[in-house]
Order: sequence, then structure tokens, then C-alpha cells
Amino acid sequence: MPETVIGAPTPPIPFGDNTTKINDHFITNRIIPTPELLQAIAATGARVMTGDNEIAEASRDWWPLAMTWAKNNEVGVRAGAIVSPTTSEQIADVLVLCNQARVPVTAAAGRSGVSGASIPIYGGIVLDLTGITGIISVDRDSMIVDVFAGTFGNLLEETLRRDYNCTLGHWPQSIDLSTVGGWLACRGAGQFSTRYGKIEDMVIGLDAILADGRMVTTGGAPRAASGPDLTQLFVGSEGTLGVITSARLRLHPVPAAERRAAFAFPTFSAGLDACRRIMQRGATPAVLRLYDAIEGDRHFSTGPDLHPLLVMDEGDPLIIDAVMEIVEQECAGAEVLDGESLLEQWLAHRNDVSSLEALISIDYVVDTMEISARWNALDAIYENARAAISAVSGTAQVSAHQSHAYSDGACLYFTFAAKPEDKEQYYRNVWDAGTNAVLAAGGSLSHHHGVGLNRARFMRSALGSGLDVLAEIKTALDPNGILNPGKLGLASEFGAAPSWP
Ligand SMILES: Cc1cc2nc3c(=O)[nH]c(=O)nc-3n(C[C@H](O)[C@H](O)[C@H](O)COP(=O)(O)OP(=O)(O)OC[C@H]3O[C@@H](n4cnc5c(N)ncnc54)[C@H](O)[C@@H]3O)c2cc1C
Repeated sequence: MPETVIGAPTPPIPFGDNTTKINDHFITNRIIPTPELLQAIAATGARVMTGDNEIAEASRDWWPLAMTWAKNNEVGVRAGAIVSPTTSEQIADVLVLCNQARVPVTAAAGRSGVSGASIPIYGGIVLDLTGITGIISVDRDSMIVDVFAGTFGNLLEETLRRDYNCTLGHWPQSIDLSTVGGWLACRGAGQFSTRYGKIEDMVIGLDAILADGRMVTTGGAPRAASGPDLTQLFVGSEGTLGVITSARLRLHPVPAAERRAAFAFPTFSAGLDACRRIMQRGATPAVLRLYDAIEGDRHFSTGPDLHPLLVMDEGDPLIIDAVMEIVEQECAGAEVLDGESLLEQWLAHRNDVSSLEALISIDYVVDTMEISARWNALDAIYENARAAISAVSGTAQVSAHQSHAYSDGACLYFTFAAKPEDKEQYYRNVWDAGTNAVLAAGGSLSHHHGVGLNRARFMRSALGSGLDVLAEIKTALDPNGILNPGKLGLASEFGAAPSWP
């Protein structure tokens, strides 16, 4: 796997041949910024890069389909230039210039997105936000951090713990690969979300810059009833409505205590029902992960018949004891496993993502599909989506786990792998089959990876007439359509969104 440089994006997979020029996979109306525009952008103080290698690298993310193209020295579409600002003022000036010139601006940060959301599909500029980084301030009384959007997760968490004895509690598997702005833009979830919430629960306000350079600050005092929540307008907008420059996030004391437990259920459905009862009694253990038998056996060697549930909580000892008591009561009929050792094993390997590149390198197509649904739909979705994905010719294996739970429902996270003749056709078919099965049973299109390019074609089914409202908001905030065009299922001034195969 390419090396991780702390505070910089990690490339997903090496290109097939470092000596060959990287080409575009999609043929689109690729906009190349003029030298005059690039000169004007450079005059703002933002760094402008036009080298072939820099452009190729910044024009891709961790979308697994695009990782298969890298082997053939291709990215989706190459940007015309990369622009790296270090201040909000520079970002505003760059946006004004690009808006006047009608040049697409695709925000990109950690580039760890898995849906092609930061691929500049009409060229233009990639706005690299990793230079606007660091903690601005910490309000210890109110337990709020104000942080620049380009700050990588590992650096933020380390600094909070070391200098402030606080934690954000946001632990996406990609914590080393992703940034605060990327979490907000994609509505991300961490592995401890059942206690600390998703990023949309953690954010209380943010600063964003609109396409015409206007700066907007949202949020402030808690739970204000001053009209709709404008913070949430930008959360999940995937760079299409504005560029997030900083955010205020809720903090927690570094946990004083921790407890672990593990159980095994005879069916996935019985495990889901235990999770439902735990959540509906108000217990919110940081980790409540239920694996189906395939994944349980793959990760913990629990055999082909058991569906293991890993539970861990952290924080105030009094609260943890109460939570774990409820967990034990609701899992009373299940087999008790060695929680200490299973959690130890999970914690040691939870962020290891090397298998993705290893499998893609030997011509597998591997991907994950995370969705959410009400408790009363989860059994059907688990069965129907697995059946639909398995039925796609070429699928070698499909499995799932439940990793984020709420009182009203939970997230199911499907993983599938195949070694098909025609990778793109398989990829299209499998996403169609799985997504349609989920949507038909009342599930959401995504729980935390977002929409990007990969899921754009399902937005009408997912949102119905809500997509028209989103399109009107987009037109109001970005009338020239320069911000991340072609994503989120929104129509683009620059042409039709590319398709595959
Ligand atoms: C191995 C692996 C594991 C992962 N695990 C998780 C997980 O556990 N939980 C989870 O939620 N996700 C996970 N992801 C997905 C990914 O890490 C998240 O979507 C993450 O939030 C993306 O952040 P980023 O900084 O890399 O954003 P990028 O990939 O650079 O961008 C993603 C989108 O956000 C937009 N964007 C980025 N920054 C800004 C900004 N400042 N303002 C406006 N728009 C912006 C971009 O335009 C793009 O649309 C995983 C990915 C990988 C590769």
C-alpha cells in the first residue's frame, strides 16, 4: 500500500506504471483553466500546481471501481490544476475567480471518499483543503473545539487528548486518511457512534464559503430556534453547496473507564433484536457491532453458525456499569464469548485496510454498501440485499454486519467480492441489485459514505421530489453550478454525468 504521510492524503493504490502518463477514464467536457486564470489564482496566495503527477494523484479518491482503473494508469478525469489555499480569504478569492470564469471547483481533502465524490469529472480545479488545518480554539467550559476543515482525524484526536484531555469520540476506520471537512461533507460515522453520535450530532456550527465568495457562519448557542438549522444544510452536501472552512464540534472528557463483553446469537435476526432492545432501553454502548456468521468466522473464527456481538463502552464508570447491565440482561439467552480477547483483536485490527488493495491487485472487485433502516425493515433488508447481490453473476461472497445503532433503527454494512470478466459491468449490476433491494424495503441510500458519483443515479428513487428541492437550493447558492458539478444526482451545466461501463 502507498505510504501514509501524516497530515496528507494517502493514495489508495499505486498506478500500474509510474513511467506512463495517466489518462482519463471518462470522456467528458473537461475544462482547462486558462493561464490568465491560474495567474490570478496564484496572486491570491494559494499554491497552484499543474504537474502531471500532482494532478493525477489529486484527481482520484478511494472509490473501489476507480482503484481498478489505476492499474491501467487511469483516473476518472484529470483536473486542469490543483489549488491549495491556506486561509479562508484565499478560498473566497479563488471561488470568486472561478465563478466569474465558470470553471468547476471540486473540493478535496483526505481524498478517502469511497464514492468518487472528489473526482473532478469536468476538469477545472481541485481545491485541496488540507492546507487549512489545525485547532483554532477549545472552549473547555462548554466542551467545544473550533477546528479548521482540512485537519486530519488522527492529528485532531491526538492533539485533543494530549493538550486538552478531551476526545471528539469520532473514530471512522479512515481516521488517518480523512479530515473534519470530509466527515461533515459526507455525514460520516465513527466506530463509537452509538455513544458519541455521527458527525451531524457532533457539529454545532460551521463556516462555509459560497460559490460567489460570500462567507457564512452557522450555529452558535445550543438548540437555537432561529429558523431552520443552516449547519445541517452543509452537512452531507459533498462540496456541492459551499466549501466548509471550519467547524465547531462537541467534545467529551477522555474516558475514565472502559468495559467489554461479547455474545453469540444463533441467527443474525436474534442479534439485531437484542441490539434493538438495548437501544430502546436507553443504553448506548460506544461499540455495539453484530457480525453475521460469515464475517464473524472471518474476523474471529467463531465458526459458520454463530453471529457474534461485540460490545464495549467507555466514559463515566457509573454510566458504563448501568449500560453493561442492560446489555447483559438483553443478551441473557445468547452464548457468552470472551469479550476481552475479541475486543482486543478488533481494536488491534479495526483500521487495517490493506486487504482492499491486495484483492484489487489480483483482479477482484471488492466494495462495501452501508445503509440504514428502521428496526422493522432490517431483517428483510439483510435477506433481500444479500440475495440480490449474490444473484449477480460473478459474486463470490457477500456478508454483513451491524455497526451503528439507534433507538429507531441501525446501519447494515454489506461487503461483497467478485472476480468477474467484465469488472465495470459487474460493478454496475451489483450496485443496481443491492441498492434497489434496499430502497424497495424502505432503507436509505447511504448511512455514512455519502452519494458522490457512484450513487448519484439512485438519488431520485431515494429522495423523490426532495431532489427537486435540493436542486433549487443548489441553484440559489451556486447559480453557475461550479461547485463539484455532476455529483449528488444534481444536473450539471457542464454536461451529463459520466456512466460506466
Ligand atoms: C479504508 C476506508 C475506511 C473508511 N471508513 C469510514 C468510516 O468508518 N466512517 C465513515 O464515515 N467513512 C469512512 N470512509 C469514507 C471516507 O473516509 C469518508 O467519507 C470521509 O469523511 C471523507 O473525508 P475526506 O477528508 O477524505 O474527504 P474527500 O474524500 O477528500 O472528499 C469527500 C467529499 O467531501 C467533499 N469535501 C471534502 N472537504 C470538504 C470541505 N472542507 N468543504 C466542502 N466539501 C468538502 C468533497 O468535495 C467530496 O465530495 C472510509 C474510507 C476508506 C478508504
